[in-house]
Amino acid sequence: MEITYEKALQLDTNDLLRDYKSQFVNDENMIYLDGNSLGKLPKQTIELTSNIVQQQWGNRLIRSWNENWMDLSSRIATKIATIVGAREDEIFVGDSTSLNLYKLAFAALYAKPEQHKIVSDELNFPTDLYVIQGLVKHQFNNHFLELVKSDDGITIQETEIEKRLDKQTALITLSHVAYKSAFMYNMELVNKLAYENNSLVIWDLSHAAGAVPVELNKSGADMAVGCTYKYLNGGPGAPAYLYVRKDLQEKFANPITSWFSHQKPFDFDLNYQAIPTIHKFAVGTPNVISMAAIEPGLDISIEAGISKIRAKSIKQTNFMMELIEQELIPLGFTVATPKNERIRGSHISIQHADAYRINRAMIEPQKGEKVVIPDFRPPNNIRLGIAPLYTSYSDIYQAIGRIKTIMEQKEYEKFSNEKLSVT
Ligand SMILES: *Cc1c(COP(=O)(O)O)cnc(C)c1O
Repeated sequence: MEITYEKALQLDTNDLLRDYKSQFVNDENMIYLDGNSLGKLPKQTIELTSNIVQQQWGNRLIRSWNENWMDLSSRIATKIATIVGAREDEIFVGDSTSLNLYKLAFAALYAKPEQHKIVSDELNFPTDLYVIQGLVKHQFNNHFLELVKSDDGITIQETEIEKRLDKQTALITLSHVAYKSAFMYNMELVNKLAYENNSLVIWDLSHAAGAVPVELNKSGADMAVGCTYKYLNGGPGAPAYLYVRKDLQEKFANPITSWFSHQKPFDFDLNYQAIPTIHKFAVGTPNVISMAAIEPGLDISIEAGISKIRAKSIKQTNFMMELIEQELIPLGFTVATPKNERIRGSHISIQHADAYRINRAMIEPQKGEKVVIPDFRPPNNIRLGIAPLYTSYSDIYQAIGRIKTIMEQKEYEKFSNEKLSVT
């Protein structure tokens, strides 16, 4: 049966999470489908950050460290722990995802000097691979990285990972949800395979946390990293986090030793002594303003509840898939995301030879049309991200309708294929 706009409106009316949209800054003339790259601004963050800048920094100055800032990272770690199924003493908040991956990968390889193989896959986010390549080049010369291939460019069977595991394998590092295709690994299964093989796993949760249930403890995960500016709505360049399971923490050392991971930084002792907690992964002074800005987004996700967010995400990705079938497949698009919701995150990639120009036409419409913001990933993917906290069914309906119009009117032809610096 054909999907109509009335159907979308009816789904919005029955949506249990529909009121959360008003907690974010919205623009009536824009449909935002890029929350998997930079989440929206929670209204509460505006007031909070202005208070931190004016009051805490402006008026209280250095006194704010004791009054507000020293506890900030632990408080935020506790909230992230809730979202990723970890204990609060297993999460450190700070630095970028790339830097956190560097610290943990170094720690893992250093702890297993006899094993020289690192396994990842070709669906992984490039920065993760670059970090590993750098470690192999500069610090672990006897190590090597093996990339598992994807036959369809969309999925990888866990058995393909298993085939690469042997006595040599020290570390497996994978994205839980792949940034381009949205394919999602069975985390528990991979953890089990790694454990049986005496290898460690580092998960990158950047495209998963806040969109799909993550159970680091229950699934037996060793280590993880992730960012807070995507589905968690923490703001551009917001501090990332890392996770190390409690019983493993003692074995691992931070390769970048600094005063904020010292047992007593304010003793100003000349010799380094690592603090024996997850805070040993700190590197220098925390980014107070951007760290504080993460909290309202976390609070919204926790209040809404990840299981409700996931239930809506599944409904909405299925709704979008059906609309794509109905409206876009006949126009030459293909879907580059798993059809099976159980192995799919919260975005959908569609492909077209003119993807880049279509993406531009969505963002820069002719007068009167709504702006629709997806993003482009080479060679020819348009990613349509669904953030259930603020994406509505009518947004999805209208966005797919816009793509159809752009194709029928050939609106994309007036754009060049020259790429802007951020796509
Ligand atoms: C967004 C993203 C990153 C970003 O890393 P930064 O160091 O924060 O720039 C890393 N990994 C994955 C899987 C991502 O989706």
